[in-house]
Amino acid sequence: MPENQNTQNAQTAQATDQIRRSDEEWRAQLSSEEYAVLRQAGTERPWTGEYVDTKTTGVYRCRACGAELFRSDTKFDSHCGWPSFWSPMAGDKVRLLEDRSFGTVRTEVRCARCDSHLGHVFEGEGYGTPTDQRFCINSVSLTLEPDEAAGTA
Ligand SMILES: [Zn+2]
Repeated sequence: MPENQNTQNAQTAQATDQIRRSDEEWRAQLSSEEYAVLRQAGTERPWTGEYVDTKTTGVYRCRACGAELFRSDTKFDSHCGWPSFWSPMAGDKVRLLEDRSFGTVRTEVRCARCDSHLGHVFEGEGYGTPTDQRFCINSVSLTLEPDEAAGTA
């Protein structure tokens, strides 16, 4: 009888390091603006996000779970009103889903660790970046950690 329980626990623990929280927990943790974007796939208004024009060197983490998602060296000026990256960091940091809302087909970008909404990815727009992709990400979904903070400043 106890053997069954042990087996079950082992399987649960093994199920990756993904973060699962209830809706109530997310509401308690996030501001209403963060919640609307991260958990309800909302979009912040263009040019209003704090990282639209940021050039600071560092790593952009998921604001919901802290996972490292983007490096500043893949950020570029897209003039679209949102922070734009041509690639996420290596290692399946993000998950892509087909999004058919608003009568179009777009590709939604979510955090692979906590499944929070980050933004959308567009391809073939001719920006001249190495991937020809634009990860159009809401500032409110990200937290920038400047490189200096980790160093000896
Ligand atoms: Zn996350």
